[in-house]
Amino acid sequence: MIYLDNNATTKIDERVLEEMLPYLKEDYANPSSMYDFAKKPAAAIREARVKVRDFLGAANEKDIYFTSCGSESANTAIKGVLNCNREKRHIITTKVEHPAVLNTYKEFEKNGYEVDYIGVNSQGELDIEELKSKLRKDTALVSVMYANNETGVIYPVEEIAEYIKSKSPDTRFFVDAVQAAGKIPINVKETKIDLLGISGHKFHAPKGIGALYVKPDVRFTPLINGGHQERGMRAGTENVPYIAAIGKAAELAQEALSYELKEVTRLRDKLEEGILKNVFNARLNTGVKNRVPNTSNIGFEYVEGELILLHLSDLGICASSGSACTSGSLEPSHVLRAMGVPFTALHGSIRFSLSRFTKESDIDFVIEKMPDIMKKLTSISPFQEELEVLRKRRG
Ligand code: PLP
Repeated sequence: MIYLDNNATTKIDERVLEEMLPYLKEDYANPSSMYDFAKKPAAAIREARVKVRDFLGAANEKDIYFTSCGSESANTAIKGVLNCNREKRHIITTKVEHPAVLNTYKEFEKNGYEVDYIGVNSQGELDIEELKSKLRKDTALVSVMYANNETGVIYPVEEIAEYIKSKSPDTRFFVDAVQAAGKIPINVKETKIDLLGISGHKFHAPKGIGALYVKPDVRFTPLINGGHQERGMRAGTENVPYIAAIGKAAELAQEALSYELKEVTRLRDKLEEGILKNVFNARLNTGVKNRVPNTSNIGFEYVEGELILLHLSDLGICASSGSACTSGSLEPSHVLRAMGVPFTALHGSIRFSLSRFTKESDIDFVIEKMPDIMKKLTSISPFQEELEVLRKRRG
């Protein structure tokens, strides 16, 4: 099996699993209990918080709140901040956010908020000037992702944070860093970012654990009310094994960052070059340098993405298409649409996402097999004339 869908989820690192096991087996006490038996789980939470603090470059471990996932982190940030600031009714985000942010914004829009959705160019880069022009004194919140899950394009969140604070210091700025964590360095204390969310299963921890960084002076309300856990900001008995896991995964991701930046980038570039060289109907949906190391989005013109995925799957290769299957109809990706990816490639776009566990032989195999798959699929495409023109044009 060749797993190239690491932006969907990642495999659990063995060392992360080892870290979790004691809290699933013998050390199962509720960390809030008073007896000695609870000391180990309580210490595990403290340690994990310090590790996530260091991973995100936060000044204080008290600025880190554990959540159940990236979606919860985004919901807590957006709803929590807006609940604390009900006079300002204008909010800004981008057209290419993950649904965790977009659908939360849509809910506020339905409830009377004015929303500006900022666009991207054909390479998936954010229109910063548009964002700057939309910022107002009554803007309560701006949300911009650190890196896009479909294209890997990195957004200049530090520059945006500086701009927001220079023009409208009370506007809060949330960054969904789910696809940046573990792929590029994050150092919140050097920035003016107010809140930042991550998700463990994107960097080799299990599914079901996330974290939210909140700057100390930022007020927000909890999404889940109840007990005193997470300093009263996220109730529910702590999920100790998963919290220990995200701490360990954060530590390991930090250690592996230089490998990620150098080697994973090299493998990703090799994959892109190999496919573009050997497959005449392939185009890079974005080739900007400022991308996370692991992500490649390639459009295969005049063929169906789902068919490509099935053929890849038959060979044991896991990747994903830009399309989301909504109620039986195949909707092209909102991200690729916002980029204006031509219709000819929109339905045949595939995201390959690597990890530190991707082997050179995995990449070689995909490069070797892709021309055969495309030969088959272009031969059954209804667009034979267009394909012929393309074949001649691209040689
Ligand atoms: N934000 C981004 C950019 C993502 O890619 C994802 C998951 O794919 C999420 C948020 C949601 O994370 P989770 O699955 O942990 O809720």
